[in-house]
Amino acid sequence: MWGIIATWRMALDGIEGAAKQLEEGGRADDAVEAAIREVEDFPYFKSVGYGGLPNEQMVVELDAAFMDGNTLSFGAVGALHDFANPVSVARALAADDANNLLVGEGADLFAERAGFERKAMLTDRAKVFYRKRLAEDEKRRQEGAALELGEPEAEQEAARGAGIASAPRGHDTVGAVCLDEQGLMTCATSTSGLFMKRPGRVGDSPIPGAGFYVDSEAGGAASTGLGEDVMKGCLAYEIVRLMGEGLHPQAACEQVVSAFSDKLTRRRGKAGDISFVAMDRAGRWGAASNLEGFSFVVQTQGSEPQVYLAHPQADGSCAHELASQEWQDAYMAARLAPVSE
Ligand code: ASP
Repeated sequence: MWGIIATWRMALDGIEGAAKQLEEGGRADDAVEAAIREVEDFPYFKSVGYGGLPNEQMVVELDAAFMDGNTLSFGAVGALHDFANPVSVARALAADDANNLLVGEGADLFAERAGFERKAMLTDRAKVFYRKRLAEDEKRRQEGAALELGEPEAEQEAARGAGIASAPRGHDTVGAVCLDEQGLMTCATSTSGLFMKRPGRVGDSPIPGAGFYVDSEAGGAASTGLGEDVMKGCLAYEIVRLMGEGLHPQAACEQVVSAFSDKLTRRRGKAGDISFVAMDRAGRWGAASNLEGFSFVVQTQGSEPQVYLAHPQADGSCAHELASQEWQDAYMAARLAPVSE
């Protein structure tokens, strides 16, 4: 059995490519890296890789991770600058016994020395979003309104366009969990993090146990959402632990996401967006979110790639609906729409 699951509709092309590799007997480490690279390379996804939105100083800082579920080796980068494929840098860091998580200048230096492709990751399109956001923030400041982190994502604009009620704000990580026919499980993440974040801010995506975790004897999980809240619960590890105890990935995701979201609301008065995808060693999969309309993509042996939308329910469960063609068209149209100042 092989399979791969990833956060957000933006992973679709990457998943299809990875699935072909897996079908031909390819390895889960190569397949998951290829899936994430595809998303990193696409300039219109504004929360991952090339085209990702910058921090408050208009600098793109990228977080990414890779983990091998057989050896439990992981590699991760935080606040990496101007390298085309952060996930590949993360994977290279997983080869050593130490220095597995590097940030900022140290991560840049490693990537440079290892010969990774340099690329100016700030696009003209991202600069337009940045300048628009500065102008909006200034207007809000003048009106005395509180400023919020992140920005409404095209994901949600698309959901609205298709008449689906949608939640407030997005910042979107691509995170994937993969299983190959040999039973190797891997996971990987990549993101530009929160739009307008402080320089040096690192989210959950490169933090093992928080934004990602995989153990080939149990399963893997990867997140997207407000990193600061995901890190409060070490949620990826928790989901994998529950799968190791025999829980179905869907039950594990639902239990962890809804219980932790409720806990944050109880203790702090609010919970940020928290969404997870997971797969177990048998190729069974699950996804849960506290965000209405969270999309994810999954393909397993013998089936076509599917895009789903998650609908959290009052009892803590999370229903899945196949995304309609109309929704998918609206999604891509929102991503590709021209932007002007
Ligand atoms: N989790 C990411 C971060 O906090 C962003 C996201 O997935 O939306 O950096």
